[in-house]
Amino acid sequence: MTERTGGCACGSIRFKITAPLMGVGVCHCTDCQKLSGGAPNYVALAPEASFAVTQGEAKIYSIKGDSGNNVKRAFCPECGTPLWSMPTQAPFVAVKLGALDNNADLKPNLHLYVESAAPWHLLHEGVPTFPKMPPPLPAQGA
Ligand SMILES: [Zn+2]
Ligand SMILES: [Zn+2]
Repeated sequence: MTERTGGCACGSIRFKITAPLMGVGVCHCTDCQKLSGGAPNYVALAPEASFAVTQGEAKIYSIKGDSGNNVKRAFCPECGTPLWSMPTQAPFVAVKLGALDNNADLKPNLHLYVESAAPWHLLHEGVPTFPKMPPPLPAQGA
């Protein structure tokens, strides 16, 4: 299954991803905790060219990330669901796993920003952890 679809909770925003995902990260940074409601943020990296909005228009705001570069974060203006983010200098879109229609086949490849993790955040045994940003992700299955 190469094509994946997803959207927000109310159904206003729909999107598709037409290439294999580059990997799944679990981000424990404080921004992600705010956006998720407290949990770490589970994101799948999709090649930028493979990502397309198919319905609706997400609201996008820009915030300075830990790297000093701006990150654009998209959410549904109707229901508020956080949907994806786009670091300005990265060739991928970080799509929230909860926004995907089907995510049961995915599993985390790494945990990042664990130095900001809440003491009660869970880590996956055997999955690499990084205090902040990891080096570039290997392809899934590589
Ligand atoms: Zn919505
Ligand atoms: Zn984060």
